[in-house]
Amino acid sequence: MSRRTSRKKLEVEVDERTEELKTALSKLTEAHIILKELTTIDAVTGIRNRQYFDEVFEQEWKRAIRQKYEISMLVLDIDHFKRVNDTYGHLAGDECLAKVATAIDSMLNRPSDVVARFGGEEFVGILPYVGKVNACQLAEQIRERVEELTFEGEAEAIQVTISIGVSTLLPADGGDPKRLIAAADEALYKAKSTGCNRVCT
Ligand code: GH3
Ligand code: MG
Ligand code: MG
Repeated sequence: MSRRTSRKKLEVEVDERTEELKTALSKLTEAHIILKELTTIDAVTGIRNRQYFDEVFEQEWKRAIRQKYEISMLVLDIDHFKRVNDTYGHLAGDECLAKVATAIDSMLNRPSDVVARFGGEEFVGILPYVGKVNACQLAEQIRERVEELTFEGEAEAIQVTISIGVSTLLPADGGDPKRLIAAADEALYKAKSTGCNRVCT
C-alpha cells in the first residue's frame, strides 16, 4: 500500500470515530436532560417534588418583582389522611395521594402554574399573575373536584376531602418569599380549625 493510500484510510477512520463520538455525546446529553427532569418528580404521586418547588418558587418570586405582578399560593392538605392509612393500609393511602395529586395538577394547568408535593399529604400550587378572587375560585373548584373523587378500596369505596389555604402577594424588592407560604399556611390552619373541607384566605 502506498503512503498516500494508508494516509487516506487513516483519515476516513478518524472521521468515522469522530462521528461515533458525536453521536455518543448527543445521546449522553439527552440522557442527562431526562435524568435531571426525573429528579424533579415525586415517586409516589408523579407530580413535581419539593426540591423543584423550592427552585422554581425563588425564580417566580424574582420574576414577579421585576415584572410587578401578583402571585397567589395554594397550600392543600388532605383531611384526616392518617385515618385512610390506618383503615385501608399504606398502599391504598399511596394510591389516594396519587389520585388527589393528579386531580390538583390537572386543574392548575396554565403554563405558568406550578403544582408540587409539599411533603406528606400536603400539596402546593404557585399561581403567577393570579389575584386573590380568582385564586379562591380556583381553590373552591379543586376542593369540589376532590370531594367528588372515589377510589376503589378493597372492600369499599374511599372518599377524601381537602382543606386549602390561599394567599396572595405583590412581591417587592427585599420582601421575603416565605411570607407567601406562611400566609397560605395560616389560612390552611384556619380551614382545618373551622371544620376542614373548605377554602380560607
Ligand atoms: P389533618 O386533617 O389535620 O390534616 O389530619 P391528617 O391525618 O391528614 O394529618 P396527620 O399529619 O396527622 O397525618 C398525615 C399522615 O400522612 C401521616 C402519614 O403517615 C401519612 N403520609 C405521609 N406521607 C405518606 C405517603 O407517602 N404515603 C402514605 N400512604 N401516607 C403518607
Ligand atoms: Mg392532612
Ligand atoms: Mg398535613
